[in-house]
Amino acid sequence: MHRTRRTLAALVLLLAVGAAAACGKEGSPPVKGPQPDELPVYQVRTDFRLPGSATWSKARERGHLVVGAKEDQPYMGEKDPATGTYSGFDIEIAKMMSASLGFAPASVEFRTIASANRETALQNGQIDYYVGTYTINANRKKLVGFAGPYYMAGQSLLVRTDEDDIDGPQDLDGKRVCSAAGSTPYQRIEKDYPKADLVAYDTYSVCVDNLLTFQVDAVTTDDTILMGYAAKAPDELKVVGTPFSKEPYGIGVPHEDTALRFALDDALAAHEKNGDWRKAYDATLGLSGVPAPLPPAIDRYPAN
Ligand code: GLU
Repeated sequence: MHRTRRTLAALVLLLAVGAAAACGKEGSPPVKGPQPDELPVYQVRTDFRLPGSATWSKARERGHLVVGAKEDQPYMGEKDPATGTYSGFDIEIAKMMSASLGFAPASVEFRTIASANRETALQNGQIDYYVGTYTINANRKKLVGFAGPYYMAGQSLLVRTDEDDIDGPQDLDGKRVCSAAGSTPYQRIEKDYPKADLVAYDTYSVCVDNLLTFQVDAVTTDDTILMGYAAKAPDELKVVGTPFSKEPYGIGVPHEDTALRFALDDALAAHEKNGDWRKAYDATLGLSGVPAPLPPAIDRYPAN
């Protein structure tokens, strides 16, 4: 039986108001978000100094870090509209890094930055570093630096559960496909599947609203992100096919700040070794049901 557009429109509203509204109310979708008491506590390195990093020195004067993130990607980076608190795997990575750089994780000031604005935000010093499903690639490396990778994602497709015709990117000819402006998934569809009818918005949550209201036929981006939306509306949305790209996630840093980049590479390695990475995964992205993989090898590339 097909769901009516009105039911779906109501769901759009629910998704838009997020976890706050969904919490404990009857008839709301079953959302199992990260539980604060299950998140690891990261040891703050109070003796840490990085005078060779302009970014670190500025943060030190300020007294806390300013970190760019996403706010509408369940499991990865999500902001609770009621409390303003951010949660998810990316948020945990950002907090681990903060602890290693000598700043209390609770003091991190998160700023939401959309996919298309990440490089500019790092270039003009709006943020100290960025953790938000940010794929490392050669083009971006000309503009910013990347610590990591700390996770390997892959591009996938999200469709309505009543969709039978779309199983992979080869089925997208003539279909309305939505992705975020400035993202690698958008660029891949544009280049490799030019017969798809591609539209872009600033965020994936707007794409999902458009999918639920029949404005588009599919949403494409990383599996990590799409699994979160599918989990929020399992009766309406499903992830189909197998991932068709490799998206190594990095921590974006200002291009010239190699000292900060290397310090973050060291910090990632340390948190992978001491079990924090794994615990953080289990308490966030692991809620999607996918068991923790091994983290990818860190690519400590030389100074540019
Ligand atoms: N990882 C991809 C990218 O960096 C898609 C996710 C995103 O837009 O943040 O473009």
